[in-house]
Amino acid sequence: MFQKILIANRGEIALRVLRACKELGIQTVVVHSTADADAMHVRLADESVCIGPPPSRDSYLNIHQIVAACEITGADAVHPGYGFLSENAKFADILAAHNITFIGPTGDHIRIMGDKIEAKRTAKRLGIPVVPGSEGAVTEDREAKRIAAAIGYPVIIKASAGGGGRGMKVAHSEADLEVALQTARSEAGAAFGDDAVYIEKYLQKPRHIEVQVFGDGAGRGVHFGERDCSLQRRHQKVWEEAPSPALNAEERAHIGGVCARAIADLGYSGAGTIEFLYEDGEFYFIEMNTRLQVEHPVTEAITGIDLVHEQIRVASGGGLSVRQEDIRFHGHAIECRINAEDPRTFTPSPGTITHFHTPGGLGIRVDSGVYSGYKIPPYYDSLIGKLIVHGRNRVECMMRLRRALDEFVVDGIKTTLPLFRDLVGNADIANGDYDIHWLEKYLAEGE
Ligand code: ADP
Repeated sequence: MFQKILIANRGEIALRVLRACKELGIQTVVVHSTADADAMHVRLADESVCIGPPPSRDSYLNIHQIVAACEITGADAVHPGYGFLSENAKFADILAAHNITFIGPTGDHIRIMGDKIEAKRTAKRLGIPVVPGSEGAVTEDREAKRIAAAIGYPVIIKASAGGGGRGMKVAHSEADLEVALQTARSEAGAAFGDDAVYIEKYLQKPRHIEVQVFGDGAGRGVHFGERDCSLQRRHQKVWEEAPSPALNAEERAHIGGVCARAIADLGYSGAGTIEFLYEDGEFYFIEMNTRLQVEHPVTEAITGIDLVHEQIRVASGGGLSVRQEDIRFHGHAIECRINAEDPRTFTPSPGTITHFHTPGGLGIRVDSGVYSGYKIPPYYDSLIGKLIVHGRNRVECMMRLRRALDEFVVDGIKTTLPLFRDLVGNADIANGDYDIHWLEKYLAEGE
């Protein structure tokens, strides 16, 4: 087991990882920018190292400084959290070259999944169902027209190097296709320095369903069920739940089994999420994230298993603590992402939190790094906390969520809490009847 883990992140996830390390008796080092000197994870860590000024590229993305912090403090492993360097293959390689363990998959696995065309090809080879479309990059407009006609309009053009919902264009007919291709290529070239694009069928009313997987790096793979993350705004998840209201036990076992086998065949190590669009009973792979997800606590709530403990165990060579048959699903969990944003316009609302009171009681978990008097710096993303609620079934979970939202107080800044108070009383949400476009439509109607 590791002696000392360096946490290369900030905010709620840095605190989340720190808690797991403490439980396992592992010393913790955190790195932070000058803007985060007063952050909770810095206060609670055994050691902290200031690695640079506020902009992420000079601090949380500064590989050189982070490796130096490992050397100075004698950390033997790095947990990257999510975002920042968590899916940076070069970072994983550099740590390996310094004999520091990256708590995550190999650089090569990160590289495969970071390239969408390569990821899709790999998924297909491993028996994971994919969205019908081009076999690889499309360079000729004629070829694009032929493929689009074969799969049928509408089609979506996606950048191989894309991410964060950028570099995608929908074409509804052949007349739109040339322009969509050109725009997607030039946007991808400008944003990612790689203008390779591919085509796939555009699904019109899918749900976003993702499967949590783990590999031990030695040929064993398991799944922890799925999460439904269909409630999104601008491709950003807002509300996540497990299990998905749309799946039954057979569908769950089937897609979970497909994913677990794929992870085993790949020789993958650590946590991963295989993301699908789900429409009319069919799953279509869209991408794999090779890290811990923001929404992992809903899976922890229904399985009772600490996924960060598992990540640390696997990375240290201790293997998985569970076999597939040990992973059971209990009840229902929902996570609300609380952002420091205006609940109507979603413009960021940094500033000082004058009062912070979190709900409590059975089935309530709040993961947050903020506190009364904390000043939210304007440099980073606006997530200030996550409310995770668990109940024996979805009805009980929703009742408890409504009560927890009533108790939650954040004063001094604007937050998205009022949005969740609206959603929890909505009939479609109560029925679990929503797709990936539902929230945008709901917000547009409220304007
Ligand atoms: P990114 O890595 O940029 O987030 P993804 O491939 O994960 O890109 O897609 C992001 C979102 O774009 C999906 O959650 C979905 O809303 C939409 N999307 C992607 N592919 C399709 C498709 N074939 N049909 C319909 N919507 C899609």
